[in-house]
Amino acid sequence: MTIFNKILNWMTKNRNMLFLAVCLFIHATYLFVFQNLKIWPLAFLNLISCSFYIHMLFIKRDMTEKGILPAYFEILQFSFLSELAIGPSYGFALYMIGMAAAVFYLLPSYGNKRFLFQVTGIIGVIAIKGIVVAAGVSFPELREPAEPYHAIFYMANLGITVTIVIAATIFYSKEIDAALTTLNHNMNHDVLTGLYNRRYFEQQMDMIPEEKQCQYIISMVDIDDFKKVNDTYGHEAGDEVLIKVSSCLKEATGKESMAVRWGGEEFILYFPETTIDQIHVVMEEVRAKIESAVIRACGKDIRVTITVGIAIGLAGSNYEKVIRSADEKLYLGKQRGKNRIIT
Ligand code: GH3
Ligand code: MG
Ligand code: MG
Repeated sequence: MTIFNKILNWMTKNRNMLFLAVCLFIHATYLFVFQNLKIWPLAFLNLISCSFYIHMLFIKRDMTEKGILPAYFEILQFSFLSELAIGPSYGFALYMIGMAAAVFYLLPSYGNKRFLFQVTGIIGVIAIKGIVVAAGVSFPELREPAEPYHAIFYMANLGITVTIVIAATIFYSKEIDAALTTLNHNMNHDVLTGLYNRRYFEQQMDMIPEEKQCQYIISMVDIDDFKKVNDTYGHEAGDEVLIKVSSCLKEATGKESMAVRWGGEEFILYFPETTIDQIHVVMEEVRAKIESAVIRACGKDIRVTITVGIAIGLAGSNYEKVIRSADEKLYLGKQRGKNRIIT
């Protein structure tokens, strides 16, 4: 992972805290600016805002979405009152527009309510522009000290707004990408063991043209007396055993082959373009490894064995038939005393 990605991840994780910190920084800067310009009502407004963010960050320490929602409305009222006090050429109304984008990213669990928040901001902008421009509201005593710097004010507020919109877009799309990757992975993998799931295996097998299906071997693996493991050590320990056995099976498969959780405590290993003798050797190693392993789960030492049925995919035979054949051999292995491989 690159440094850039690490920073992005950290920022994503701490986005609410960062958002509140940035708000505090902006208000502290404006407090300084307005106090220097001696525009006391706006300095006071920023002082109130600073106190709000200090409270949120250091006293309440609520970094959840519930903590962010009041910040959204704080920004709207700040934007509204500043525009009203100082006029339209300083760009304070831009924050309402910027926040319409940011609120989408920052409050995902509010769902459709976010539209309501956005509409509030947008109506706010229209209303304030209407009041300030059309009705000609003016407070020259507030505006005049800042007049020489109005372009700087406007550029700063525009810059912050654009940054908010870009940051919200980048983080939002990064989150969507990550969610899609997880979704894709979960669609093809078993959540407990991380092996491929049955759906993925069947999809892959359906994609192989029939004339190419002559070279593969299927090993059907079943943990012996697994019910006893659950009954003796508990379901959670049973899960641990499944994970451990799965990792041994995964190790036995290479780049072209597949380890699949077929269901419960049954697995399928698919090996293309190989011989039954080669796979017999591979599976014997796996069987011996699992037999000798002591699995530490929920404070207990657990030992298990596996039974394996191996079948070859011959020309023209479909994979369901091969699986059936491997399953029959597995059944034979169980009848013959378990912990063995039948080819
Ligand atoms: P055999 O040697 O004949 O295969 O006997 P067995 O006990 O292994 O087979 P059986 O089919 O009787 O029991 C399988 C058990 O596997 C029953 C079920 O509760 C358990 N099982 C299935 N899926 C899971 C799982 O995800 N986690 C756990 N802990 N147990 C599971
Ligand atoms: Mg079993
Ligand atoms: Mg079974």
